[in-house]
Amino acid sequence: MKPITNSWAEPYKMKMVELIKMTTPAQRKKALKEAGYNTFLLKSEDVYIDLLTDSGTSAMSDRQWAGMMLGDEAYAGSKNYYHLEDVVKEIYGYKYLIPTHQGRGAENILSKILIKKGDIVPGNMYFTTTRLHQELAGGRFEDVVIDEAHDPENEFPFKGNVDLIKLDKLVKKYGASKIPYVSIATSVNMAGGQPISMQNLKDLRAFTKKYNIRIIHDMTRVAENAYFIQQKEKGFSNKSVREIVKEICSYTDGATMSAKKDALVNIGGFMTTNEWEVFEEARNMVVVYEGLHTYGGLAGRDMEAMAIGISESVDDDHIRARVGQVIYLGEKMINYGIPIVKPIGGHGIFVDAKKFLPHLSQDDFPAQTLAAEIYLDSGVRTMERGIVSAGRKPNGDNYYPKLELVRFTIPRRVYTQAHMDVIAESTLRVYGRREKIKGLKMVYEPKYLRFFQARFAKI
Ligand SMILES: *Cc1c(COP(=O)(O)O)cnc(C)c1O
Repeated sequence: MKPITNSWAEPYKMKMVELIKMTTPAQRKKALKEAGYNTFLLKSEDVYIDLLTDSGTSAMSDRQWAGMMLGDEAYAGSKNYYHLEDVVKEIYGYKYLIPTHQGRGAENILSKILIKKGDIVPGNMYFTTTRLHQELAGGRFEDVVIDEAHDPENEFPFKGNVDLIKLDKLVKKYGASKIPYVSIATSVNMAGGQPISMQNLKDLRAFTKKYNIRIIHDMTRVAENAYFIQQKEKGFSNKSVREIVKEICSYTDGATMSAKKDALVNIGGFMTTNEWEVFEEARNMVVVYEGLHTYGGLAGRDMEAMAIGISESVDDDHIRARVGQVIYLGEKMINYGIPIVKPIGGHGIFVDAKKFLPHLSQDDFPAQTLAAEIYLDSGVRTMERGIVSAGRKPNGDNYYPKLELVRFTIPRRVYTQAHMDVIAESTLRVYGRREKIKGLKMVYEPKYLRFFQARFAKI
């Protein structure tokens, strides 16, 4: 295994900067209370370093901005659509493209087309919007990720792998006809940005072929996954990230993409498929939910920025710096003794809130509490990925996820190494006073995706 932290310095320089506000403890205390102790409800103006998400927060390159000026804003047949179609074919290898306003727009259309009421959708760990669309289409998600993924201490390098024994049991129990597809995420977000191995994908392809079951790829962070394959999987150290990305996609039948992550744009997404019938249906449906099939809710300029961003996202130097920065922060936290999910993932650091605040029960929302405390300390905004994000089962009971995490998501090409130092030092300060920290109670709970808008009060 090659060391992966060496020489991660950025392959770009700054041409423009955005000034940010520095806040006082009193200002932060007030802002947090007004936000109901939910970091999603803070005003971004009151945030110093924003690690809420890596979604739509990337810095675009000068080439992408120049591409914005080439927007062809025709209602139908924009040339930017055809450029995007070419790039998706060339880099990912998928045949048919339907642009959407973002990832969940693609999930909505794909779920509606492929899932029938009573279907089972196995996946390598749930993702919030993905599972919700599967459920709204009448399906039921079943987790088939390997057990290691649920254990934040386990250092297995490919915790995004599918447990084929779990999948086989589902196929035997429900029958292959009840399983429209296996839902595979690369860089499994909810497990901490953990990759799936190429070998596991190949094995999964062989298995699903036997039963004639599709694999649908949530390719939101496919380039980051490819980087881990290059660094950690035998036989890939001499392949480029670009080659690995294409090989990953070749084992799947279609994909949904949130281009707001890997693809370095502020808005955009798409659905792809290699099946003509699915494409036809999607082309009909996109008109209802997103817009015409050659723009899918996007401006021509957005599609152009996306096409350029996709090409930049599979550049080896870009990915080495991107993941290198995340690893830099993670190693700093580990050296400070802060409990984080291991191995360090591709898009952020996930602090284990159960270990950080062992005196709180999961019903006291330890991860929500910790995210609030970190904001209070330094103005660094993180987010909860625990019981609040997990939501409720269709029968109304809470899910109690094993992982109760605070996510420090690193935007791409936005912050410097000095910012990483500030983040780690602030977390260490909160760690120093952890025993005095009390939990929260939920005082307002939205019906869907509650983590976005729930409100809390101090116990
Ligand atoms: C962000 C994300 C989505 C949803 O995409 P949006 O663009 O936010 O709608 C789906 N899957 C994964 C893994 C994601 O991270």
